[in-house]
Amino acid sequence: MPFCVTCRDENTGQEVEPLMVEAASEVAARSYAEARGMIVGEVVFLPILKRIGYWTAGEQPPVYPHPGRLVDPLWRCADRARIVAYLQSGLCIASALGHSWCRVCRMRGKEMGSGEFSDGEWLWPEGLAHYIEAHQVRLPEPVVESMERRGWRVPADLGPLDGNLVDESFWLTWASQVQQQGAEASAAPDLPRD
Ligand SMILES: [Zn+2]
Repeated sequence: MPFCVTCRDENTGQEVEPLMVEAASEVAARSYAEARGMIVGEVVFLPILKRIGYWTAGEQPPVYPHPGRLVDPLWRCADRARIVAYLQSGLCIASALGHSWCRVCRMRGKEMGSGEFSDGEWLWPEGLAHYIEAHQVRLPEPVVESMERRGWRVPADLGPLDGNLVDESFWLTWASQVQQQGAEASAAPDLPRD
């Protein structure tokens, strides 16, 4: 498990950059830092952020889904404004060099953003809100259920987060299941019957 350890150098007493330590427990992370001549302060578990909302940019074969396949105008109509507001209010933990562009309407610029936002559990591109607001793209239910559990507010104090500690498997699995279901549903009427 990843931990963030704040510490000072034992010899100089100077504060050093927080150590990112992969260890089995908080105690193990602490001894790792102490063995390296550090006076250890706070040891905090770093969550592995679940990255969502990444779309194909035309790579072959596609790694990410296309949002056009996930459009669902009937999905969460009553909550959509809250979902959009939540996505727009995430904590920006990383910035890219340029603005993203919309895979549906090709818009680019400020509204699509260039950052990565988080709520301490999920990590999403700044422009994700645009897809829900402008194109009725649906999100995985577990994502929305966790927003609901937090009262539709990104927690104010998220603790240390590392934008490099990322897992994409949830998003890729969900997107491929949804697209598979969509493909089966649209193929069904043409299937031969016995
Ligand atoms: Zn768009």
